[in-house]
Amino acid sequence: MSVKTVPLLRGGDWLQGGAGRWADVFNPSTGQPIARVPLCAAEDAADAVHTASVALPAWSATPVVQRARVMFRFHEMMERHFDELAALVTHEHGKTLEESRAEVQRGLEMVEFACGIPSLMMGDVLPNIAPDVDGETARHPVGVCVGITPYNFPNMVPLWMFPIAIVCGNTFVLKPSEKVPLSAVRLGELLLEAGLPAGVLNILHGDQTCVDALITHPQVAAVSFVGSTPVAKHIYETATRCDKRVQAAGGAKNHMIVMPDADVDLAAKALAASAYGCGGQRCMAGSLAVAVGAAGDAVVDQLCQVAAQIRVGPTDGGGDAEMGPLIRAEHCERVAAYLDVARDEGAHVALDGRRPFSGDAFLIGPSVVDRVEPQMRLAREEIFGPLLSVARVASLDEAIDLGRRCAYGNGASIFTRDGHAARQFKQHFNAGMIGINVGVPAPMAWLPFTGWNRSFFGDLHIQGTEGVAFYTRQKMTLTRWFASPTDTHHDPVWKHSEQKHSEQGDTT
Ligand code: NAD
Repeated sequence: MSVKTVPLLRGGDWLQGGAGRWADVFNPSTGQPIARVPLCAAEDAADAVHTASVALPAWSATPVVQRARVMFRFHEMMERHFDELAALVTHEHGKTLEESRAEVQRGLEMVEFACGIPSLMMGDVLPNIAPDVDGETARHPVGVCVGITPYNFPNMVPLWMFPIAIVCGNTFVLKPSEKVPLSAVRLGELLLEAGLPAGVLNILHGDQTCVDALITHPQVAAVSFVGSTPVAKHIYETATRCDKRVQAAGGAKNHMIVMPDADVDLAAKALAASAYGCGGQRCMAGSLAVAVGAAGDAVVDQLCQVAAQIRVGPTDGGGDAEMGPLIRAEHCERVAAYLDVARDEGAHVALDGRRPFSGDAFLIGPSVVDRVEPQMRLAREEIFGPLLSVARVASLDEAIDLGRRCAYGNGASIFTRDGHAARQFKQHFNAGMIGINVGVPAPMAWLPFTGWNRSFFGDLHIQGTEGVAFYTRQKMTLTRWFASPTDTHHDPVWKHSEQKHSEQGDTT
């Protein structure tokens, strides 16, 4: 089997780089390395930022409609290569082909959104804000932007960032997850083919060494980050200390409330899809089911039935698996260890996903842990795998109170037939993205990804118009033109029209 090295993109050229440190990229379905990725040094990061800053003046001066046209062509290229892009996600990440297709579709929608940015860059004008003075605002690019992305959406999360930043007139340095760098490289190839000028998008690979060099570099204006909470906090604190604007999306512990009046059959299927889709490796995955009142036993029974039937297996190269492998063997071990923690802390493991699987894929099946109490680690920590905890509470108020004690605040869902309960939940639950009879309330490109608490550090979120606001800065101009002494005095327009109407005998 050939193991290729992953190139860097700098100034329109694909380079073999790195300062001698390398990591393996694996196919989680086979457990085998498929590529070697360089772990770039601080000097590589500086070179990438320098290249982006050299490209900045010409790109920011390119009319926004021309910048958007590159995205129209990129969208066409992505559609043409849709199957290949989805297969690549499955190859390096392990999610099913259906899940990869859904991911690429969400990414395409980001490009669609970016194509419409010319309208969103328009400013406001208030003529005559003071005598003979006009006020106006205009949006300008911020400069060189940096994006650092996680392993769980190798195609979509980079597309949350660079299409918007680039159409807004910025240049960009992308540092994708070193666990899944191949999708980002393919997107870079397609974007160059679509006509993006050299240096506008640059890609480098690596770990903390090159990330820290990027986020502290004096020529970087803005940093977008998506990943785990401890790293998001580090990025936010470090980069803001260096005067950058930062949006840093972190981890999650998403609650899913099931009310006693819910259709338990439908709710259990939605809960399972949310918790086990992509092997639970989604920041919007349901992680703690909260069964209210009499719902408890039925929810746990149904969940165990649905979860036990999920076909688990390798996803790359055919097969009928409904849930694929996790990203690494160590990650399977980490998730499995939580089942021991659950037992030690007195919870009840209703379904244990640990089974012997044949082959070398990084596999673990879905688990259900019942009677999880608020103080237990399973109720508080992000597991990021196919393990759904169930807490039982007496009332909706108690469920909302449980949410209030959660350190994270990405998403939360309620399953109910009661509009008032749904409204109470929407109004009072301590999370930024709410689902009502929806298991994964992840917004699409046009709406912001509004995580709260330790799920997000910053102000302007990723996606939607907040994304455009993040990648632009406003300039306000006040203009006064003095009349020359030879100018004759002009009446206001309305006076002329009033006069005209009365001349015409118009009394209406
Ligand atoms: P991670 O935090 O380990 O890595 C994310 C990125 O940061 C990678 O590019 C990695 O190379 C880099 N990195 C890792 N450690 C670093 C350090 N110490 N200093 C600087 N950079 C570092 O996250 P992951 O394991 O790749 O992804 C899973 C996490 O991402 C989960 O916590 C998940 O909830 C979160 N996530 C959040 C969202 C969201 O929108 N809130 C979306 C997707 C994933």
